[in-house]
Amino acid sequence: MEIKVIGGGLAGAEAAHQIALRGENVILYEMRPSVLTPAHKTSYLSELVCSNSLKSTDLTNAHGLLKEELRRLGSIIIRIADETAIPGGKALVVDREMFSRRVTEDIGSNPRITVVREEMREIPQGVAVIATGPLTSNDLAESIKKRTGVHNLYFYDAVSPIIDGDSIDMDKAFFGSRYLKSADDYLNCPLSQEEYDIFYEELTHAGRVDLKDFEDIPYFEGCLPIEVMAERGKKTLLFGPMKPVGLNDQRHRGNPYAVIQLRRENEEGSMYNMVGFQTKLKYHEQERVFRLVPALRNAVFLRYGSVHRNTYINAPKLLNDKLQLKDDERILFAGQITGVEGYVESTASGLVAGLSAYAMATGRVFIPPPEDTCIGSLLRYVTTEKDNFQPMNVNFGLLKDYNKRQKEKAAARALESIEKWIETINGIK
Ligand SMILES: Cc1cc2nc3c(=O)[nH]c(=O)nc-3n(C[C@H](O)[C@H](O)[C@H](O)COP(=O)(O)OP(=O)(O)OC[C@H]3O[C@@H](n4cnc5c(N)ncnc54)[C@H](O)[C@@H]3O)c2cc1C
Repeated sequence: MEIKVIGGGLAGAEAAHQIALRGENVILYEMRPSVLTPAHKTSYLSELVCSNSLKSTDLTNAHGLLKEELRRLGSIIIRIADETAIPGGKALVVDREMFSRRVTEDIGSNPRITVVREEMREIPQGVAVIATGPLTSNDLAESIKKRTGVHNLYFYDAVSPIIDGDSIDMDKAFFGSRYLKSADDYLNCPLSQEEYDIFYEELTHAGRVDLKDFEDIPYFEGCLPIEVMAERGKKTLLFGPMKPVGLNDQRHRGNPYAVIQLRRENEEGSMYNMVGFQTKLKYHEQERVFRLVPALRNAVFLRYGSVHRNTYINAPKLLNDKLQLKDDERILFAGQITGVEGYVESTASGLVAGLSAYAMATGRVFIPPPEDTCIGSLLRYVTTEKDNFQPMNVNFGLLKDYNKRQKEKAAARALESIEKWIETINGIK
């Protein structure tokens, strides 16, 4: 049986490669060059649309660890990235043109993969992996919307920064939710009037990311970038996301002038989301301005805030832990459209979807990757039900049983688990 993969980006190329590696035939549909996206510029597969960096190579950095896991799993994307690397310090930086050309040649010369340069306008019949990315074509997006429900497909991201729990100054923050509804739902970071004045001044004058034409999206009132909201008046934030009412700060005496509320992103409290702080400030400006808040003076940002065009599905609601639609196991999703964020994360998702589609098509069992690995924890993140699902980069806070002070140990354990998983999946007949 031929497996269809829709979208020849990072996830699609990886999925096709993994399926072919195991001896099944694949048809890979890529709409470029006949239909273009607003960001891609070439007809190459796996084009890197922006930066040519695949981030850190350090194993005590989650991006570095994820790449090592993929390397051991025989990822085509990481192999070619290694082969086309150019000097980049502690990051894996590639020759952009050579990288995508090599992926195109490798995939194109694989006898088990047929590349069809055609836009897929509807979810196809049979076993198919949909990996059409953040700029999925309109017709296919419509078809996905019809299939999954209008509320389960999103077209842009309004993302608040996520902060490493360990880097928050707990002496300058306090737990509590408004009007004591429940004791420790939020971690509150108070500001005095003087601190707020400085913060406001810097926020409204900080450097912003330029809008690309296709990102010139109308903001919804409910999720305006924080700096746009601030421009409406000096007190606007005090009636919005920085509202101080209902929060009694016992330790710091009385009610604060302004408050930034942080919400736990995971049970362990290793990651905190800045509630209502979606922003288009440049990354270094986010660090500079948000670190003006006393409790965040040394904040480490695990994810920066953003507002950008991004097509993604409500994966936790729609997909099982094999990346299959819960109500139709022949349809799988992979890459950024599942709510992972970034080149390497999308590659990882493509690899899992490829293995899962192969198992599905050949009647084999598929065992998902262990949750103490970067790959497994990303998969868990996008397939575990949550109230407010937002795309996520890989980070150590996602790993199961992660001990904040032991990155080396967590990395060693992840690689051990990956080796065991490889043995297990290779042993399935
Ligand atoms: C403007 C922009 C800048 C970004 N910058 C970065 C960055 O610097 N670093 C980073 O890590 N991530 C960045 N990202 C995120 C990045 O796009 C993803 O991490 C990654 O490319 C996603 O991989 P993917 O395979 O899911 O999607 P893509 O790589 O986008 O691949 C999807 C492919 O599907 C094709 N396609 C779409 N619809 C159809 C259809 N109906 N039929 C057939 N083919 C179709 C597209 O042409 C494309 O080739 C950026 C995204 C955007 C939009």
